[in-house]
Amino acid sequence: MPIGCVYLIGAGPGDSELITVKGLRLIREADVILYDGLANPEFLREARRECECINVEKRPGFQRVQQDEINQMMVDRAQKGLMVVRLKGGDPIVFGRGGEEAEVLRKHEIPFEIVPGITSAIAAPAYAGIPVTHRGISPHVTIVTGTTASLEGEGEVDWEGLAKVGGTLLILMGTRKRSEIARRLIAGGRPPETPVAAVQWGSLPLQRTVRTTLGEMDAVEMTNPAVIVVGKVAAMDLDWFASKPLFGKTIAVTRARTQASELVHMLRTLGAQVLEVPTIAFAEPQNWRDVDCALADIHSYDWLVLTSTNGTDRFFERLFKQDRDVRALGEIKIATIGAATSARVREWHLNVDLEAVNRTSEGLLAAFDADLSGQCFLLPRPEESRDVLADKLRERGAEVREIVAYKTVMPRGLPEEFLQLIKKDAIDLIAFTSSSTVLNLVSLLKETRQNWEYLPAACIGPITAQTAVTQGFDVVVELDETSVSISGLVQAIAAYFS
Ligand code: SAH
Repeated sequence: MPIGCVYLIGAGPGDSELITVKGLRLIREADVILYDGLANPEFLREARRECECINVEKRPGFQRVQQDEINQMMVDRAQKGLMVVRLKGGDPIVFGRGGEEAEVLRKHEIPFEIVPGITSAIAAPAYAGIPVTHRGISPHVTIVTGTTASLEGEGEVDWEGLAKVGGTLLILMGTRKRSEIARRLIAGGRPPETPVAAVQWGSLPLQRTVRTTLGEMDAVEMTNPAVIVVGKVAAMDLDWFASKPLFGKTIAVTRARTQASELVHMLRTLGAQVLEVPTIAFAEPQNWRDVDCALADIHSYDWLVLTSTNGTDRFFERLFKQDRDVRALGEIKIATIGAATSARVREWHLNVDLEAVNRTSEGLLAAFDADLSGQCFLLPRPEESRDVLADKLRERGAEVREIVAYKTVMPRGLPEEFLQLIKKDAIDLIAFTSSSTVLNLVSLLKETRQNWEYLPAACIGPITAQTAVTQGFDVVVELDETSVSISGLVQAIAAYFS
């Protein structure tokens, strides 16, 4: 069996978009991922289902997994022919022991590649609005470790010498020993008034910047992980990140994972920390008989009515699975409820003939003729819920065939991170996009005996809001019928927090 390759990949400083295209591609292809504590765990969701993901977090004070063990795991798996990703926070080399791991791999004649990442040393200051070099202010930077070992013995850093070099100093892992480091830099000749900024959890929703001077380092609180910036640039404040409207807010999104991305993305863009807490999942229907029969004589229908993105996907997936393609649809016209469903139809390279004005069945009915006699409608829907739409169409003389294209199911549990945050009262808002997301969340919370009463909630429409109120949530954001949409929800959330 050929030996597998090991990829030493930088996961960037935290923001899940700060990874290289190459790094992300390799994560998606990997057989095994060994990941560090500082690598954003969201990347693991990109891995294949069969991929083995191993947490090899090392923390100061207690080493969960020793470096030797990590090396061994990489070597063993590569020798079995597996493709191994070693995922590290920031850049894999900058205080990431990537060099040591590459040496071990070379010794065992295992092929490897290094995929650089965006180091926190530069990214954390950038997210705090501090440029690490700046014309006329700082012509060079030094990245240095501030661990205990940097102060004495073999790994000692020449702090007094560094003081004389000037420019910008970026100290990693230095919060605990900051006063001693400051003392030695001052002893080396850096003035006590030298500006200092410590950027903690850079690029993440928890980011915090503490500003002080070298002489006052002791007086302020700084905790890991932080990059300490020493030098004139540390007095600069070109903040663009911490001033976003939802910065510092933790918002839970309860939609199905496959549907949540737009909402999650929009909230994150406004700076929120978003937790995905899926309370609905989709599964195949009991059987495909209904859909298959309808597909077999699809030419006999005049209208295909699609009421959700999920129904749209299921219907067309089934069509294409049968080795057929869009030509099978012939002359059938397509009607949708909601811009999101229309957008999904277009993703299947089909046009929408009629769209409901306001995302509701009533809106769609209003768009159809009053007399529909002789017209045949095909209506894919979930197993457990029926829409009034079918009946109303029949009242107008239409012939309607409802077909079960999927079923909604409850996920097996709630993410641990969400439960921890609820316990700590650290969720600022929970977003609901349907009554079933509310009810399912409540059932899942009951299973964990977790109390949710008075948790602030944002609801996409009046019906959802009513369900949420009945279930004990404190509804602080509620859209009226006319503004029901994901972007409307996001705007209302931003307005609430402002
Ligand atoms: N290879 C990493 C550094 C690993 S050493 C990189 O290139 O970024 C771990 C140290 O990195 C932490 O103690 C802290 O000083 C710094 N660090 C990592 N992520 C950080 C973040 N998001 N914000 C601030 N500092 C961070």
